[in-house]
Amino acid sequence: MAEPELVDVVVLGLGVGGEEVAGRLAEAGLTVVGVERDLVGGECPYWGCVPSKMMIRAANAIAEARRVDGLGGTAQVTPDWAPVAKRIRAEATDDWDDRVAVQRFTDKGGRFVRGSGRLDGPGRVRVGDQVFQARHGIVLGTGTRPSVPPVDGLADTPYWTNREAIEVEELPGSLLVLGGGAIGLELAQVFARFGVRVTVVEALDRVLAVEEPESSEAAAAALRADGVEIHTGVKAARVEHGVGGFTLRGARGEEFTAERLLVVTGRRAHLDELGLDTVGVDAGGRYLPVDDRLHVTEGIWAVGDVTGEGAFTHIAMYQASIVVADVLDHARRSQGGADPSGTASVVGGAVGVASSLAATGSSGSAGSVPRADYRALPRVTFTDPEIGAVGLTEQQARDRGINVQVGFTRLASSTRGWIHKTDEDGFIKLVADADQGVLIGATSAGPAGGEVLSGLVVAVHAAVPLSQLRHMIYAYPTFHRAISDALHNLGQ
Ligand SMILES: Cc1cc2nc3c(=O)[nH]c(=O)nc-3n(C[C@H](O)[C@H](O)[C@H](O)COP(=O)(O)OP(=O)(O)OC[C@H]3O[C@@H](n4cnc5c(N)ncnc54)[C@H](O)[C@@H]3O)c2cc1C
Repeated sequence: MAEPELVDVVVLGLGVGGEEVAGRLAEAGLTVVGVERDLVGGECPYWGCVPSKMMIRAANAIAEARRVDGLGGTAQVTPDWAPVAKRIRAEATDDWDDRVAVQRFTDKGGRFVRGSGRLDGPGRVRVGDQVFQARHGIVLGTGTRPSVPPVDGLADTPYWTNREAIEVEELPGSLLVLGGGAIGLELAQVFARFGVRVTVVEALDRVLAVEEPESSEAAAAALRADGVEIHTGVKAARVEHGVGGFTLRGARGEEFTAERLLVVTGRRAHLDELGLDTVGVDAGGRYLPVDDRLHVTEGIWAVGDVTGEGAFTHIAMYQASIVVADVLDHARRSQGGADPSGTASVVGGAVGVASSLAATGSSGSAGSVPRADYRALPRVTFTDPEIGAVGLTEQQARDRGINVQVGFTRLASSTRGWIHKTDEDGFIKLVADADQGVLIGATSAGPAGGEVLSGLVVAVHAAVPLSQLRHMIYAYPTFHRAISDALHNLGQ
């Protein structure tokens, strides 16, 4: 067995969260080994957020051009996928090559190891023949992979996940999308706008089921207007693939056919691969339970999707800041307050990071390290209309026994919505805790729903009193001005 090599920190998985943690700890002067088996940067830049948003940008440009008719003349649009595929290859992913990202990490002083790593006892990580003993800690940022349902026949077919959908160079004539969550809807709308005949099949009784029912209606209406067929309440029972493409059969005899099948039914952490048993942590759950400083167990932290706190890049980045501060705090304390690396800059870095995080106002911090607080977790579904949401939905709030007040307004009834000729889909919905007099959740759907959300995130995060929100000045005529109408409509 190889002799373990002593380092300060090992970060397993250099996706969004792991890369951020590893880079910042290396910059602070710790000896950091970053292990990645695939591409440094993870899902977001190569097969997730970035390329999908490039696709959406192109698809929305097409949709916007089609709106010229009746507003400012006539426009003829001929969609062409080639520039989209080229942009994803050249600008977003460097042809799925991570040399720049690896260099970014090593330039910060990190040591990069390509390979699949696993825990190998307390403080130890094994990557092939190499074994590292981490003095100050191990950070798990191993993310998730697509969760593919056990539908009869599916595993034997060449179905797509998000990866094949993002890498596609020639569009199919027709596409079945299994799963009506955010990713499924975003991709369905993109492909439909490029002329693909798209059918969405969802097991639950509405698409975007984790959000407000009004969000589900808005998304479904928008996609239908783009020609997407949506079938909800369909339990996929069998999938077949032949020369004609895919046939998906539902449990009640429904039948759908298409040239391609995209499976986007959620994501799953693969805990069984991480050697968690060697450190006494149960690998049987869906995610890795963490406390509010992202501790898994003594000397081990987790960051990003693997924690199950929300599969978003902004969650991974938020958690990364806390992990960095906490690891540095531990390193400093384990050396009796001395500089963990022997350089004054690290003490400065540790204290600096921790105190600047504390200064962000994250509540509940004991000492200088803030605790994770997900009350104001924002999420945006980048369909057109965009659907932004923060905090609790009305139902979630009622389920918690909160004395709920709801305020609702349609964007079309606001001046800007009327000028813009928004469809009936856009809206603002507010969920307030009547006893506390604050917003605890909100949704903003519309042409800039994700941007309008920012004010609502501040309101929920900082628990701004409703009285203050009512006595604010909202610029006229903006989309966000509809928030004041929704506040006015707050009622039981
Ligand atoms: C199509 C799509 C669109 C999305 N759009 C958005 C969006 O608009 N906004 C948003 O906020 N989020 C979006 N997301 C989610 C976002 O991509 C994830 O939340 C984010 O990538 C999570 O980062 P992470 O670091 O936790 O995990 P990942 O990015 O999954 O990275 C984990 C890394 O760990 C590596 N790894 C795993 N196990 C090991 C091991 N044993 N040894 C070595 N390496 C290992 C993996 O290879 C991977 O590179 C989207 C996701 C998809 C699929």
